[in-house]
Amino acid sequence: MKEIEGNVLTEKSKDQKKFQKAEILLEVKNLKKYFPIKAGVFRSTVGWVKAVDDVSFYIKKGETLGLVGESGCGKTTVGQTILRLIEPTGGHVFYNNVDLFKLSKGQMKKYRSKLQMIFQDPYGSLDPRMRVKDIIAEGLKYAGMKNRKERYEKVRDYMQRVGVSPTYMNRFPHEFSGGQRQRIGIARALVLNPELIVADEAVSALDASVQAQVLNLLDDLQQEFHLTYLFIAHNLSVVRHVSDRVVVMYLGKVVEIANKHEIFSDPLHPYTKALLSANPIPDPTVKRKDRIILQGDVPSPANPPSGCRFHTRCWLAQPICAQEEPKLEEVHPGHFVACHFWKNLEDQND
Ligand code: SF4
Repeated sequence: MKEIEGNVLTEKSKDQKKFQKAEILLEVKNLKKYFPIKAGVFRSTVGWVKAVDDVSFYIKKGETLGLVGESGCGKTTVGQTILRLIEPTGGHVFYNNVDLFKLSKGQMKKYRSKLQMIFQDPYGSLDPRMRVKDIIAEGLKYAGMKNRKERYEKVRDYMQRVGVSPTYMNRFPHEFSGGQRQRIGIARALVLNPELIVADEAVSALDASVQAQVLNLLDDLQQEFHLTYLFIAHNLSVVRHVSDRVVVMYLGKVVEIANKHEIFSDPLHPYTKALLSANPIPDPTVKRKDRIILQGDVPSPANPPSGCRFHTRCWLAQPICAQEEPKLEEVHPGHFVACHFWKNLEDQND
């Protein structure tokens, strides 16, 4: 693809340059999270569910990194482990060069406000017995703001910023719509002045029109507060809209990382290609010709296939794929792929 047309930089090259000089805010290195499988009278461990297995990527300051994959691929576990909402099995997460996994619970408290999460279920994530003002102010209290009046002053300010009238601050979560509840969840994260927000399926439970409003709000807040987002989602259209770069996961592993233009126009991993081909086209009169139907079910992460984990469903698989695990390699600047035969796919894309 030509990157320069006349003297005008294309959207793709502009986006590539946007974060070239930005510093790395968060680096995930060889992250692992295994859950034990217990059985028998004594509940002894008989195996492990390898939900996240040797995952590495980084996020630059101010960018939005999309994390995509089918349900059960481990993307939510990655988000929760980064924030130490669940403890990792192995690996490192460096935030501003500090290894978060080496910190004690007390030391971690200092970083909690800087790393926040927005959850998928805006109702389930808000305590139904608490008033909205106390839900939003709770983190401030935990962070050491002792004066209640000051806390509520901040709550008013942030409710306003996310588009919920502060006159409703004494209400309970059930008195709000789904979109408003998600805005309250955003205010709760934002009030602590974070640098990084992990948005886990933040708009999936909302109607399409409300989704667009919340996405626009997140975009505005990113500009205003210089936020960095890890945006976890299964909806590729949403990811395409919000992300600068995209990480694709399959069965606990990263299979491809690239800027969004390359992921969506020249995917180099067969799984990414299949995922994109299943994404609906907005125009119902257009019939999709390149749809790839994957055979078989997603294997269990408790017993993942040998070699490349995708080999049981991959239409490009060769005997070596079942024996040797492909490494995640940088095949073009900033474009990483874990496939022995990515070149074949690149030739097909051309
Ligand atoms: Fe398919 Fe083999 Fe590439 Fe895995 S390594 S994605 S099985 S071609």
